[in-house]
Amino acid sequence: NTKTPESKCDVLIVGAGPAGLMLATWMARCGINARIVDKRGTKIYAGQADGLQIRSLEIFDSFGFCDRAWKEANHMIEMCMWNPDSDGVIRRSDRVPDVPIGMSRFQQIVLHQGRIERFFLDHIKKHSKNSIQVERGVLPESLSVDEKLMGDHSTSSYPIKVKIRHLTEEEAIPAQSNGSSVSDGLFRSNLAEDDTDDLIRKGQSKAGTDEILKAKYMVGCDGAHSWTRRQLGFELHGEPTDFIWGVLDIIPITDFPDIRMRCAVHSAENGSLMVIPRENKLVRLYIQLKEIKPDASGRADRSQIKPDNIIKAAQKIIAPYNLTYEYCDWWTAYQIGQRVGTNFDYNSRVFLAGDAVHTHSPKAGQGMNVSMQDAYNLGWKLSLVVKGLAKPEILKTYQSERRRIAQDLIDFDHKFSRLFSGRPAIDVLDEAGVSMAEFKQAFVKGNMFASGLSVDYGASMLVAKAGDATEQGDGTDVSSTSKSRIIGTQDLAANIKMGMRFPSFKVLNQADARPWHLQEKLRSDGRFRIVLFAGNVLAAPQKERLDVFCEKMVASAFVQPRLYKDIAVLTVHSAKRTEVELLRDFPDVLHPFDERTGWDYNSVYVDDESYHEGHGQAYEGYGVDKEHGCVVVTRPDQYVGFVGPLDGGEGWTGVESYFEGIFV
Ligand code: FAD
Repeated sequence: NTKTPESKCDVLIVGAGPAGLMLATWMARCGINARIVDKRGTKIYAGQADGLQIRSLEIFDSFGFCDRAWKEANHMIEMCMWNPDSDGVIRRSDRVPDVPIGMSRFQQIVLHQGRIERFFLDHIKKHSKNSIQVERGVLPESLSVDEKLMGDHSTSSYPIKVKIRHLTEEEAIPAQSNGSSVSDGLFRSNLAEDDTDDLIRKGQSKAGTDEILKAKYMVGCDGAHSWTRRQLGFELHGEPTDFIWGVLDIIPITDFPDIRMRCAVHSAENGSLMVIPRENKLVRLYIQLKEIKPDASGRADRSQIKPDNIIKAAQKIIAPYNLTYEYCDWWTAYQIGQRVGTNFDYNSRVFLAGDAVHTHSPKAGQGMNVSMQDAYNLGWKLSLVVKGLAKPEILKTYQSERRRIAQDLIDFDHKFSRLFSGRPAIDVLDEAGVSMAEFKQAFVKGNMFASGLSVDYGASMLVAKAGDATEQGDGTDVSSTSKSRIIGTQDLAANIKMGMRFPSFKVLNQADARPWHLQEKLRSDGRFRIVLFAGNVLAAPQKERLDVFCEKMVASAFVQPRLYKDIAVLTVHSAKRTEVELLRDFPDVLHPFDERTGWDYNSVYVDDESYHEGHGQAYEGYGVDKEHGCVVVTRPDQYVGFVGPLDGGEGWTGVESYFEGIFV
């Protein structure tokens, strides 16, 4: 009768897919005592999500591992649209750029999820010094939250209790459906029943492999069938459609001319197909299965779906071109449906992220991206609260910021998948058909959303823009509890929008003239940043304003102790690089001195011509006045929190009040 062993951690993450791994990455970067468990015995090795949108790449870059994905992936540059001509034969009708032009230094790339998970795992290992490792084959079986401890965010309070069980090897490795040797994704697709309840039932007879885990916070990143969500009694709202699609990852043998382009192919009568060219000569085909219909229960019979009938459906759509394959890497099928969670958190203690709170069709390449970005939004907030640095109220902004994005995603996917799955209109009088002009328009317009760059968080204690922070649609109050919420002056940086991610232009390092994208300097290390657009520091009145601002910063009892620890400072001026001296023209606080390593040469930048890469025209791009500059505060996730004048009055008070609203 041995007692079940008990242990404690600050944050428990359930599920090690893209969302869980992103969260664990923040925990590793911020030095949090976290555990991450997954019921599967192995990571995934093929298939599943493969599209990485621009914003995800910017995030990877901020952690420092984007180069690995960028090198290995296939790059998507152009999208071709194929539609029936007047004889009903498909022909290329349009070419458009795959992503909006000029928005980022990255474009969309394709690389399968298993590789992306690998990059995360390596990064977590390195930054946690191996203290955070995915514990695989581990199943949580019960969850209770001690209501009495709920409001107590002190370091000794562990309100969450989870019983976990270590599974046997056969339980932890799912059987492939259809006895096929090719790996398929049906066990994780929405056409498969979830096996969590089965595993819990089997486990009741097993003894000795249980553990009680007590945690301060818990995050359910356990996918579409989320066990965590069900424990909390939260639901996903939305309906499945009748559209069934198959997915093949193959090396195609074909005479179709655009097989290495991303393509949307609408056939006259046989459904639609999407071509996604991938790494290693692979191509992913998303294929509408018009002949397979859901039964009375609303679900399709998955035993009917095999690679053979998926490729036959593709051949009909792509005719008169030929399409076969010898090698299939992975395949799956899914039923289109859009669903979004009612709640993203339970009393700021248990959170849900990723597919656990939104599911939709995979063709728009959003699922993995939005899932990772949920966790990216939550991770730094949790870390700051666990460390006792930030007020626990910032955790409420997780739901207020991310639920809106999930809703937008669902609306986008609803529209996109309807246009994709519909029959093309024969002419303008054919109202039942989908207009191909409308499809193209929706694609081009949706591109901005699909790139992840249009995310615009609402007013809150973290975003000092005008608007009601006490009413977030769902009633969440995300204003600051301290004093009245500070409002920034957006006009001073017309293109650095409060609530949106900090855009990027090239600037030069003042000390060594090397060009950098300014966004590269906003590393995901858990720190806020004061970005001083110092303007023309050679003009005496402007230099005076900069000096006064810096004096206030150094004299501030609230901000000064946090400088460089929790709040970094970056400067970008607009005077001529060669006429300015780092040590002479900038107050010490902008390039602080360290006894052991000397001056900091990586904090002051200039908007000037480079030798080899042109002129970034950053001030113009950011919409900031070159003479007078301004001050911007970015959050640890590169979203803009505050914009104000660079002066010792309103400007400094704004920055200080912004931080007083957040830090303890
Ligand atoms: P998941 O990746 O589902 O991870 C959940 C994890 O939790 C799993 O590792 C699972 O084993 C674990 N788990 C589940 N239940 C439990 C439990 N009870 N206890 C412990 N662990 C548990 N997205 C894109 O962005 N682009 C694409 O091109 C794309 N294509 C797709 C193609 C297909 C065929 C499919 C099926 C999905 C596709 N997606 C795509 C979606 C993408 O895979 C998901 O949106 C993404 O993986 C969600 O990440 P997640 O971490 O939230 O959940």
